[in-house]
Amino acid sequence: MHAMPMTKTQLGGSRDSSPEFVDVLVVGMGFAGMYILYCLRERGLTARAFEAGGDVGGTWYWNRYPGCRVDVDSVQYSYNFSEELTREWQWTEKFASQPELLRYAIHVADRFDLRRDAKFDTRVISAEFDEETNFWTLRTDKGDVASAPYCIMAIGSLSTPYKPPFLGIEDFRGEWYHTGAWPHEEVDFSGKRVGIIGTGSTGIQAIPVVAAEAEHLTVFQRTPQYTTPARNRPMAPGEQRQFNAHRTEWHDEVRSTFSAMTGFPMPTRTIHEDTPEERRTYLEKRWEEGGMPQAMLAAYKDVRVEVEANTAVADFVRDKIRDIVKDPDVAGRLCPPKDLPIGSKRPPIDTDYYETFNRDNVALVDIKRAPIERVTAGGIKTANAEYELDAIIFATGFDAMTGSLLAIDIRTSHGASLKDAWSDGPDTYLGLMVAGLPNLFMINGPGSPSVKANMIITIEHHADWILDLIDHLAAEDFNRVEATERAQTDWVEHAREVAEATLMPVADSWYVGANVPGKKRVYMPYFGGFDRYRKLCDEIAADGYRGFVLSRAETTDTASSAAAE
Ligand code: NAP
Repeated sequence: MHAMPMTKTQLGGSRDSSPEFVDVLVVGMGFAGMYILYCLRERGLTARAFEAGGDVGGTWYWNRYPGCRVDVDSVQYSYNFSEELTREWQWTEKFASQPELLRYAIHVADRFDLRRDAKFDTRVISAEFDEETNFWTLRTDKGDVASAPYCIMAIGSLSTPYKPPFLGIEDFRGEWYHTGAWPHEEVDFSGKRVGIIGTGSTGIQAIPVVAAEAEHLTVFQRTPQYTTPARNRPMAPGEQRQFNAHRTEWHDEVRSTFSAMTGFPMPTRTIHEDTPEERRTYLEKRWEEGGMPQAMLAAYKDVRVEVEANTAVADFVRDKIRDIVKDPDVAGRLCPPKDLPIGSKRPPIDTDYYETFNRDNVALVDIKRAPIERVTAGGIKTANAEYELDAIIFATGFDAMTGSLLAIDIRTSHGASLKDAWSDGPDTYLGLMVAGLPNLFMINGPGSPSVKANMIITIEHHADWILDLIDHLAAEDFNRVEATERAQTDWVEHAREVAEATLMPVADSWYVGANVPGKKRVYMPYFGGFDRYRKLCDEIAADGYRGFVLSRAETTDTASSAAAE
């Protein structure tokens, strides 16, 4: 059992009336929330989790669109905390599809009985920290009230779908869908004229699959993307067993990599060390091998930081597009512009994306040249044509990294609020905490490597680090931790410098919030590498949690004094 002062726990929770008291509150039951619940139970701590979805899985619960799959090798996109779990689960494809990923999440929840401490179909609407009692209290749309000294936001980086407010959507006679909130029932596009808006990672996955089913598909493209072949395939017999036999060594190795992934050759030289001929041969080899998005970007050390190196790889992909797509006009429109560095928007990988534009039933519409004016009863009207459609798919992305946090009214009884704290961009210390909001933690928050790395590894890292800190507080008889303004300012400045030394912030991407009108432009993920970040987190902890104030708040709360008796 833990040295942590326990609170009164009313298992089963409450609706409307008296609050439920636990040790730790958790928001979200995706891969992060599930792992945290598992760890809390192992530590003998009580928890209450709330999840807006009807079951576990997070991203893989909501994103059920055709073609949805992970783009990290399945064996690397797996939990590492249980040898039994590792042994008994078998992935069927190199890049698992959404149904398989959801089955994995459900299997983990069942196996470790994780749903016991979670409430589903329940959205947290507010989180308030009482400075006197030292308790966070969550309130939900179903009337739940739950309190704990600590609260962990495990709500995902890409969990608030963004749908542009096109005029006339209410007039549309057909069906419309957002890829990030896809129906649970089968959607059948056969015999239908479908329009899809958006060519990010999601659109690029959905377009080939929808094109194969629909009578006709019109792709509305604003910015062309660079995508490279996934070369997905079934897992070979014995492949996973072999991987797992070295999983412990792999786990050490992967946590010392930039992206928390292995499986592609790390760059050993700059592009300038190769002749144009050698570059071509080497990039051709990488293209043929395909695989995770980093495979192509990591061809040379300088692709992410140097214009000439980046342009050489971007030109290689543009040449590939022109080779694959038969109609030169369509190929030209699919080529990303020269001023868009490859990798500055999230790099997708694909199965037959460019090839799909050779199909007779697929049309490409450039909505940068002729923007969408409105949705009509019969389809979509752009500045120069009207397209008749039976269904519209919005593959228009998310209010990334901050949207889901800011959708919750997060504040303290002394008047600090997340909304105010982030009015000038999402300032955090290490992406883990926000100054002024004690005892509130984020998993994969802005300012952490998060979306720039294998999220399972970063989830495990964050959860372990936070729970070690909670252990430390208990062991030292503290009950409050807060990031200092100074440490936060220094971290934000460091993260900004790291990003600006690269080509990454150049694009109008969701990384910088440019996809949501009015959102402050800040490069949100930490781009210093997961390896460097993890080392820093370790050093900070070893240095007595440098940059955090750890203290004992004398509380006036009756519930906690009752529990302490
Ligand atoms: P996204 O990358 O933000 O792409 C959204 C697309 O919609 C872009 O093509 C964008 O055009 C377009 N768009 C947005 N607003 C528009 C408007 N008002 N008018 C016209 N077009 C508009 O979103 P996403 O494709 O859903 O991907 C988001 C992230 O989810 C990915 O980057 C990735 O991290 C994650 N994801 C991962 C996987 C995976 O394989 N693991 C798969 C799917 C998604 P512009 O480019 O011009 O803004």
